[in-house]
Amino acid sequence: MNTTYRAIEVSKPGEFSEVRKPFLDPGINQVRIRVEACGVCHSDSATVEGLFPIDWPRVPGHELVGRIDALGSNVKGWAVGQRVGVGFLGGSCGYCEFCRNGDLVNCRNQEYTGIHSDGGYAEVMIAKASGLVSIPDDLSSAGAAPLLCAGITTFNALRNAPAKAGDLVAVLGIGGLGHLAVQYARRMGFEVVAIARGSNTAELAKKLGAHHYIDSAATDPAAALQALGGAKVILVTASGGKTITETFKGLRPGGVSIDLGVGPEPIEVTSMDLIFGERKVAGSLTGNPATADTTLRFSALTGVSAMIETVLLEEAAAAYAKMMAGKARFRMVLVTKNGTREGAASK
Ligand SMILES: [Zn+2]
Ligand SMILES: [Zn+2]
Repeated sequence: MNTTYRAIEVSKPGEFSEVRKPFLDPGINQVRIRVEACGVCHSDSATVEGLFPIDWPRVPGHELVGRIDALGSNVKGWAVGQRVGVGFLGGSCGYCEFCRNGDLVNCRNQEYTGIHSDGGYAEVMIAKASGLVSIPDDLSSAGAAPLLCAGITTFNALRNAPAKAGDLVAVLGIGGLGHLAVQYARRMGFEVVAIARGSNTAELAKKLGAHHYIDSAATDPAAALQALGGAKVILVTASGGKTITETFKGLRPGGVSIDLGVGPEPIEVTSMDLIFGERKVAGSLTGNPATADTTLRFSALTGVSAMIETVLLEEAAAAYAKMMAGKARFRMVLVTKNGTREGAASK
């Protein structure tokens, strides 16, 4: 048996290298996973560009699926051989004030996968059991991987939004997150508006389930939303405060603009627009592991799937560069020899 495994690590900002790492046994409350697939997310740039303080070298990746091959002590409810996933939140502590109140997402001792600990750009990963997600049999590993961050982020935000069936819900940005958000919004029973720049995306947006398409390069998106009656929810999947400002007046009274895209720009809205109409701006951070289970089950049940391009783990640097250049359609997924390339690409 091999005593080392392949991993792609970042040794300093912007520098990927392929390395061999020794197998480690999982510690208390941890499992070891043979990684089969890992999605490449824009938030990986937090590691690769060193936006967070990183203890170098670090293996990025927080959308991974694989099989448990060893259990640490004290792990209950998970079995060797079981297919599992890990998302951005590495697992809650169970004892902080937020955990004690049932708010696992905001656990004060939460580690971020691929930032505080090594992530999924590797053949093997050690994960906390409290962060594990179970993978339904009818999703392939590569197909399920993007649902662990892009999927749950959009699903959870929509599920907790104040919209009811039939309400007008807008999805701003049709990329890694947005192309899933449109599918979820349609299947949750909303009247769905997709907003993106240019007319190229219109056909795809309709195919994904959008009832309406607004080209924000050609029209004022806020006025176009008001012409449709005003949105109850605008899900902002593109990063940048400006996109929120541009669309905010498109909310109907009581509506909320939910920001999912991290960026350095401030969000500017006038107090007039906030107060007269009682509108809100909110942020939403991924979701807890039980919601991730639900995201995957809902996706399998309703046929929501990520559009993916699979490449071998060894091509991680090129896949990352393609994603950062905005050229991924829509999610790059790294696959290892633990999952076959062909099998992983199905679904
Ligand atoms: Zn992510
Ligand atoms: Zn906690």
